[in-house]
Amino acid sequence: MDIKTGFVGTVGNTPLIRINSFSDETGCEILGKAEFLNPGGSVKDRAALYIIEEAEKKGQLQPGGTVVEGTAGNTGIGLTHICNAKGYRCLIVIPETQSAEKIDLLRTLGADVRTVPAVPYRDPNNYVKVSGRLAEELDNAIWANQFDNLANRLAHYETTAPEIWHQTDGQIHAWTAATGTGGTYAGASLFFKEKNPDIRCVVADPMGSGLYSYVKTGEIQPEGNSVTEGIGNSRITANMEGAPIDDALQVDDPAALRVIYQLLYQDGLYMGGSVGINVGAAVALAKQMGPGHTIVTILCDSGSRYQSKIFSREWLESKGLWSDQLLPPSRD
Ligand code: PMP
Repeated sequence: MDIKTGFVGTVGNTPLIRINSFSDETGCEILGKAEFLNPGGSVKDRAALYIIEEAEKKGQLQPGGTVVEGTAGNTGIGLTHICNAKGYRCLIVIPETQSAEKIDLLRTLGADVRTVPAVPYRDPNNYVKVSGRLAEELDNAIWANQFDNLANRLAHYETTAPEIWHQTDGQIHAWTAATGTGGTYAGASLFFKEKNPDIRCVVADPMGSGLYSYVKTGEIQPEGNSVTEGIGNSRITANMEGAPIDDALQVDDPAALRVIYQLLYQDGLYMGGSVGINVGAAVALAKQMGPGHTIVTILCDSGSRYQSKIFSREWLESKGLWSDQLLPPSRD
């Protein structure tokens, strides 16, 4: 028998997918960990589960308690599923700029959703800070605090990266991922470097995020902006603290969109925007390193979460991001 126990038992153990179009183009093996196949639909199910189970173990979360979090959406979705499965309430604070699909889904799942204006972290009304204050005000509540709670990166150190290691028999030359909290990147980088210090660990960064400049110059100087969601940061979170970083690559939105549409039309993979940054960085690394290398990245969530945005021609045109290169290929 091979039976998973409920939602919680179904998190993780995702397939590792060879991305055929980009692998064939570059002569490298470009592999994507299919995190969109988690039961809550994203890589954040793993962090959500570790955060909740750690709070349970420490006795911080009691029956009927509330989990409070500030999130770009996916962590909130994972947390709410797990709260439903375990009998907790979930209160989610989310910037109103995040996709309607994610906000609607959170409401459907039964989270108490508070949308707030998107303001920088230094502003006291930033979504992360609002969620921290709400958790303090409520009785029998915990703040998941995904950015600075190390249970987040532990999930990837103990599950995501060991799974990749086994799936590749340890034959990996490079690893790249964009960071939101940094949990995925840091947890996996720490694991890979312990196994083999020669594995190149590279931060992928969207425009408007400060990590690329931080790695290159030591200063956090965000420039430009991005329509991708859930990634980019203007500070070094506790989860990113001490993470091995060999280099950083910046991928702009036009390049990420070309990747996303190629994945859709040539590989049959319908992916969210952050995957465009991740696979775009993996392709750039393949070109830097030359043929014959194996490069691993994350397929964080599915395109269905962004149907009304990066998969809407009208929306892309309104942002000046449409190009005829994004049209479906003719199959004549
Ligand atoms: N991609 C998407 C779509 C996300 O929602 C997130 C998490 N916010 C990430 C990537 C980055 O993951 P992490 O928080 O582990 O850095």
